[in-house]
Amino acid sequence: MATGAMPWDRPAPEREGLPSAWSLFPEDLAALGCPGSALETFRRLHRPWTWEAGAPVLGPAIRRWLEGVADLALPGIVERQPSEDGATKLALQLADGKRIEAVHMPRRVRNPRVTYCVSSQVGCAMGCTFCATGSMGILRNLQPGEILGQVLAMMAVLGPTRGHELTLVFMGMGEPLHNLEHLHRAIRLLCHPAGLGLGKGRITVSTSGLVSGIEKLATLEPRPLLALSLNATSDEARSRTMPVNRVWNLARLRQALDAWGPRRGEKFTFEYVLIAGENDTEDDAARLADWLGDLRSAHNLNLIPLNEHEASALRAPDETRVQQFAGWLKARGCFVTVRRSRGRDIQGACGQLVKPVARG
Ligand code: SF4
Repeated sequence: MATGAMPWDRPAPEREGLPSAWSLFPEDLAALGCPGSALETFRRLHRPWTWEAGAPVLGPAIRRWLEGVADLALPGIVERQPSEDGATKLALQLADGKRIEAVHMPRRVRNPRVTYCVSSQVGCAMGCTFCATGSMGILRNLQPGEILGQVLAMMAVLGPTRGHELTLVFMGMGEPLHNLEHLHRAIRLLCHPAGLGLGKGRITVSTSGLVSGIEKLATLEPRPLLALSLNATSDEARSRTMPVNRVWNLARLRQALDAWGPRRGEKFTFEYVLIAGENDTEDDAARLADWLGDLRSAHNLNLIPLNEHEASALRAPDETRVQQFAGWLKARGCFVTVRRSRGRDIQGACGQLVKPVARG
């Protein structure tokens, strides 16, 4: 996880050093001298369905006081790219002009449900070779208020109109566990009952395999669900495409998952990006099933044919091989879903979020 010693962990880009209003709990608002009910002020800040004209409805006295003690700027949505499948990729601009991307994915079910794929960093330091974000390097961590602001700004414009209709996956730009301290404060804010009130089971944090971060997150409350971007079945192959594996190999990663210990109803999600000629053989399927071992009853394994992009020569396997690979895993007792990434036509799927023109 990032500490103050990391080069990208720069100070908050907040106005004149003021904390972001979106990073404060009711008790922080009270400690700063909130002239009215701190809980009610928090509620008005964190429930975008009560906002008017894109801003929380605050009494004049509270607004004046808040503007003096906190930064009320929200990330601005500066680009919207709708996809044919209903997803919308958004570019959001932060206070220092840097941009992040997020994807809004409505689900086709009877009750309105929306999944947001959100970012935790500007860029990413992990350098996975198949990933467009990895190719831009790391610029900085998002602050807790920026993580919240990203979600609230999206809700205010695109919905859903209630917290219980929202699911969040931290699978956008960045390695979330490299920014664990800020991420976890944001998760606590997202779960606050006077705000969005998200259940911890509706937040998934996806990691490339940063074992130190997994071990730390396992001990924190509220503890979100964990997804792991696996993508290879031998250390040699995984180290080739995911440099993190050179520090924490597959065996060490497996140990960290055992130590996590899924609770009742919790499942790990494994993402396996299928790359033609790299990780799509029957031997790979057998090794993958072996590696999962006794986690087989507590996992969902998502096979994602590679989203090809300009920055890489890697290609997706053809449909026959994708189905074959899924079949080999199912025959070994794995719970497999072949996932067509939402937003493929707008380069908004996993490993495709990059904003090269806004590297600042
Ligand atoms: S796959 Fe995730 S961890 Fe790897 S470079 Fe891309 S954003 Fe970073």
